[in-house]
Amino acid sequence: MSAGTEASDIVIVGGGMAGLTAGARAAELGLSVVVLERGGDARYPANARWSGGVYHVGYNDITAAPDILRGVIDRATAGAADEAQAEAFAANAGRLVAWMREGGASYTGTKIPWQQFILAPMRAMRAGLDWEDRGPDQLFRRLTDRITSRGGRLVLGARARSLVMTEGRCTGVVADVGGGSQTFAARAVVLADGGFQANLDRLRRHITRHPERIKQRGAANGTGDGLAMAEAAGAATAGLDLFYGHLLSRDALSNNRVWPYPELDALGTSGILVDERGRRFADEGVGGVALTNLLARAENPLGAAIIFDAAIWEGPGRSARIPANPTLPEAGGTVHAAATLGELAAKAGLPVAVLTETVRAYNAALGAGTLEGLSPPRSTAKATPMPIVTPPFHAIPVVAGITYTMGGILIDGEARVLRDDRSVIGGLYAAGSNTGGLEGGPPVGYLGGLAKAGVQGLLAAESVARRSVAAR
Ligand SMILES: Cc1cc2nc3c(=O)[nH]c(=O)nc-3n(C[C@H](O)[C@H](O)[C@H](O)COP(=O)(O)OP(=O)(O)OC[C@H]3O[C@@H](n4cnc5c(N)ncnc54)[C@H](O)[C@@H]3O)c2cc1C
Repeated sequence: MSAGTEASDIVIVGGGMAGLTAGARAAELGLSVVVLERGGDARYPANARWSGGVYHVGYNDITAAPDILRGVIDRATAGAADEAQAEAFAANAGRLVAWMREGGASYTGTKIPWQQFILAPMRAMRAGLDWEDRGPDQLFRRLTDRITSRGGRLVLGARARSLVMTEGRCTGVVADVGGGSQTFAARAVVLADGGFQANLDRLRRHITRHPERIKQRGAANGTGDGLAMAEAAGAATAGLDLFYGHLLSRDALSNNRVWPYPELDALGTSGILVDERGRRFADEGVGGVALTNLLARAENPLGAAIIFDAAIWEGPGRSARIPANPTLPEAGGTVHAAATLGELAAKAGLPVAVLTETVRAYNAALGAGTLEGLSPPRSTAKATPMPIVTPPFHAIPVVAGITYTMGGILIDGEARVLRDDRSVIGGLYAAGSNTGGLEGGPPVGYLGGLAKAGVQGLLAAESVARRSVAAR
């Protein structure tokens, strides 16, 4: 039942990085803007607000030349990235950080080359969440001001539910607002509601048989509403089976101080990952994000532990931006340690004989250069394996942490939503974590969720503006 109808040039579903960027850019280009955000409070949770704030493209400098970024995208996804999206992303990534800066964003950097554009002030380098008044939180307020100061509106507590389609063209959105239903009519609609990471049915359908055994590593408000609305309008989808996430301490299920940081990828990809029977079950060399996807798909995603030694704990264990050593034990996270593998197995509840044999076989294969002969084979291209020989030996029970889903609505280089035959659904756009086709591929290539959302937000707004002018 519709309680009212409002008309605007552009209605945007979701007030995260993609939605607020699209809204601010559209307002700047003279369009009338409405952003619908399901969160009811001005400081509503969103992945982007809670993020580390690093703008990068596949762990490379976001301001690198487009042809360099294009190469990064192709390597990260093994060539699986959609041509038009990859081209547009590479060509506009550098422009995004400049545009944000023009709007008042400031950046800080670290010694690491791909970390030169971190939204300032940077979060604290400790375990747990830390977002209030940090760079991304401040950016949310700035972008909102850029919308409202030009007459646009951010409607809080508005959950979009369905699209209004008129002769195959999208002409509005119906949303639940204040206990009723309201129609927001528009020349164009941009779906920017994040991924479907918090939708257990969807996760079960596309990603894992045990969605309740993985940990939400974010705001957990991406329920795939935009994806469902786009599908109902005939949109094509791509890459729904992969997600961006990290290995987390299993204590994250009950201890909020140990997530979203530290992530344990460096430990998992330097040592080994075993199941509750003490056996390796995945190629740890595929890298942290891909390994997290494998864990989510395991027979029992809550049965795994990372096994490593003192050299790994003191080396890779200290290498991450927010390192597991010492932040995980400091935050109360479980790190079993023992002088022998037998004692370690007993502490971690693993079968002594099997774990001892698994570590022996791994060390022997590493020493002999025959890691590919292990079952499952251990690759070395993306992560350097280290021997597990120096006591104390360690075990950390882990869980797969899902940040956002990589696949979703198929779009073109202007963020316009496409059908299976690649024709454009008029008036319908998508941007950010709800889109598919750019990230993923066989290596589970992660390209930087903030950059993807921001660039696609800009492209959507600019496309709507061009077409509005042409139609006038
Ligand atoms: C802890 C953490 C750290 C991260 N660090 C980084 C980093 O350093 N660099 C990086 O590149 N990426 C990082 N990311 C990923 C990044 O945050 C995401 O890729 C990015 O937020 C995607 O932006 P988005 O706008 O698509 O989605 P979101 O930021 O998730 O925003 C979606 C918005 O849509 C709203 N919404 C959902 N459904 C509806 C509906 N039906 N109607 C109305 N509103 C709706 C939600 O409430 C939310 O506000 C991190 C994420 C997390 C959780």
